[in-house]
Amino acid sequence: MDVGNNYNQILSNINRISNNIKLIVVSKTFSINHLKPILDLGHTHFGENRVHESIDKWTNLLKENNNLKIHLIGKLQTNKVVEAINHFSFVHSLDNEKLAIKISKEENNLGKKIKYFIQVNIGKEVQKSGISIENSSQFIKFCVNELKINIHGLMCIPPANENPNKFFLKLKEIANFEGLKNLSMGMSNDYLEAINCGANYLRIGSAILGTRSNF
Ligand SMILES: *Cc1c(COP(=O)(O)O)cnc(C)c1O
Repeated sequence: MDVGNNYNQILSNINRISNNIKLIVVSKTFSINHLKPILDLGHTHFGENRVHESIDKWTNLLKENNNLKIHLIGKLQTNKVVEAINHFSFVHSLDNEKLAIKISKEENNLGKKIKYFIQVNIGKEVQKSGISIENSSQFIKFCVNELKINIHGLMCIPPANENPNKFFLKLKEIANFEGLKNLSMGMSNDYLEAINCGANYLRIGSAILGTRSNF
């Protein structure tokens, strides 16, 4: 497994279509040592699922490298909001009012604001996180207008084993309607489809780093 080679390959696939797309290398479960070839190539955006795993892994490197941006792509619990604001540059999983209110309060206390994607449960799956499609408009307005949270865009994970296109297009339709420009969608198996549907933040792990064994 040549991680640097995989990375260059995927990046060139992406850039062949557009050079306005941010690649987030999803590094959950992998050590910094495994990520070294990509760090050496100058890549700066990484995605993590768990707050404490990310803090343990990245804190030292964040002190050395101002350009490094870590994205929380997994669930955020209200009791970890302060740690998350201090550590991450982006959170992709904002999906409920209680969390939004806590974020707004703690950002005011800390005097620090980061960027958020609102996660939408685009396939209406009971087991998935995300605000429902029906409540998304009201929730976006609540976050933007009342809480003054920096809502960067929308995020989704379409249902597995289905053609993802209609779900990606639905997220884009909601974003357009709400005046949000950024779409976090597309993973190892569907990133080209996601780009064709308007994604500009891709979250790609295994296609670059290999299979995750211990997650
Ligand atoms: C793990 C994960 C990814 C990356 O998945 P791959 O299939 O390995 O590319 C992307 N998004 C989220 C939310 C994830 O949890």
